[in-house]
Amino acid sequence: MKETADIVIVGGGCQGVSLAYHLTKKKAGKIILLEKSYLGSGATGACAAGIRAQWGLPINCKLAIKSLEKFEQMDEELDFPGGIDLKQGGYLVLAYQEEEIVQLKKNVVLQNSLGIKSKIISPGEVRSMVPYLNTENLIEATYHQRDGYADPHKVVFAYGEASVRLGVEIRKFTPVKRIIVDEVRVMGVETDKGTIYAPIVAVTAGIYSTGLLSNIGINIPLYGERHEALVTEPLEPMVKPMIISFSLNLYCQQTPHGSFIMGCGDPHKPVGEDISSTPQFLFTMTKKITRLLPFMKKVRVVRQWGGSYDMTPDATPIIGSVSEIKGLYLSTGFSGHGFMLSPMSGELLSQLIIGETPSVDISGLNLERFQIGELIREPSVVG
Ligand SMILES: Cc1cc2nc3c(=O)[nH]c(=O)nc-3n(C[C@H](O)[C@H](O)[C@H](O)COP(=O)(O)OP(=O)(O)OC[C@H]3O[C@@H](n4cnc5c(N)ncnc54)[C@H](O)[C@@H]3O)c2cc1C
Repeated sequence: MKETADIVIVGGGCQGVSLAYHLTKKKAGKIILLEKSYLGSGATGACAAGIRAQWGLPINCKLAIKSLEKFEQMDEELDFPGGIDLKQGGYLVLAYQEEEIVQLKKNVVLQNSLGIKSKIISPGEVRSMVPYLNTENLIEATYHQRDGYADPHKVVFAYGEASVRLGVEIRKFTPVKRIIVDEVRVMGVETDKGTIYAPIVAVTAGIYSTGLLSNIGINIPLYGERHEALVTEPLEPMVKPMIISFSLNLYCQQTPHGSFIMGCGDPHKPVGEDISSTPQFLFTMTKKITRLLPFMKKVRVVRQWGGSYDMTPDATPIIGSVSEIKGLYLSTGFSGHGFMLSPMSGELLSQLIIGETPSVDISGLNLERFQIGELIREPSVVG
C-alpha cells in the first residue's frame, strides 16, 4: 500500500524534534520524523549544552533570547518528567584584546536594544563573581545572567515525547536514502524500509543535509568541521557562569551535576565527517583551562569526544524553503550554536511551512544569500 504523510522531517536532532513539536502543536497534519539512528545521535548529543543570548548579529540575538524564554518554560510546556536541567548561571565573556572589547561593547548596545540585559563588567567584578578565575591580562568582560546550560539529551527527549503525544510518528533507525522530487516539487522520501509520499519534506539532517540535497541537484555551502569537548569528574558547585573567550578561543561551564564541560578551537580542525577525539585536544584544552582556572590541575577528566559543527560560510544558519523545489524546507548550518537556537528555529520554520508569517523575520537566513553574496557574518563565535 502507498504510504503517505503531510510532512516528513529528515533527522532527529534538536532541530528535527523542535520542528516536529511546533508543527504538530499547530495541527499541521500527519507528520513522520525519520532518524537514521537514535534521537540526538548527531551533533546534538555531542554538544556542550551552552545557551546564550549574547550575540553580535540582530537575528542571532532575537532567535537566542526568544529561545531562552522557551527553555525557561520548557519543563512546564513539554511536561517532561525531571525537567531539562536548565541552569542559568549566566555567561561571562572575557575580553583580552582592545579590538575585542570594542566588538563586545557594540554587542551589548545591540543586545540591550533587543531587550537582552547584558552588561560590561570590570575584572574586579569578574573576580567577585568567580574567585577561582585567574584574571591576569583581562581587560573587561560582558555578562548576561539568564544565559546558561540545559541538557541536550533531555531537551531532545522532551520535544520528541511531547510530539508523539500530539500525534507525530517518530521512526528511529530509519535512514532516508533519497528525497524524491518531480523536477520542481518534492514528492516524498525513500527509506530503507519503503517510500513515504509527502508534499512537504523538511531536511534537518545536520552535516548530512548536504549529501541528501546534492543528490537532487541542490548544492548548499555546508560542511562539517570537527570540534572536541571534554568533561571532568563532578565537584561541589564553585563556578556559576559559563566562562567563554573568543580571543582565548575556549569555553568552560560547571554543569548542574558538578562536572565541568569545556571545549576550545583548533586551527587544524579537519573538515568533513571526522568526529574522532584526539590527544592533542586533551593537551591543549587542559593547558588553557589550568591557566584560567588553576584549581583544575587537580581535577580528573572523565571523558572526551568529538563532534561536528555544521558550518556555513558566514557561520549563520540556513532556515527556510528551497526556491527551486516546492515543498522542500531546510533548517541546518547552525555552525556550532544550533542547540541554543532550536526552540525558536523549530517554531519559525513551522510557521513558514503552514503558510503563516514567521514571528521573527528569517528571510535573511535563506539559502539564496550565498548565491547573491549577501552573507551575514556573526562576529562572536569560538572558532
Ligand atoms: C563539541 C560540540 C560542542 C557544541 N556546543 C554547543 C553549545 O554549547 N551550544 C549550542 O547551541 N550548540 C553547540 N554545538 C552545536 C550543536 O550541537 C548543533 O548546532 C546542533 O546540535 C545541530 O542540531 P541538528 O538537529 O541540526 O543536527 P544533528 O544533531 O546532527 O541532527 C541531525 C540528525 O539527522 C540524522 N540524519 C542524518 N542523515 C539522515 C538520513 N539520511 N536519514 C535520517 N536521519 C538522518 C542524524 O543521525 C542526526 O541525528 C556543539 C557542537 C559540538 C560538536
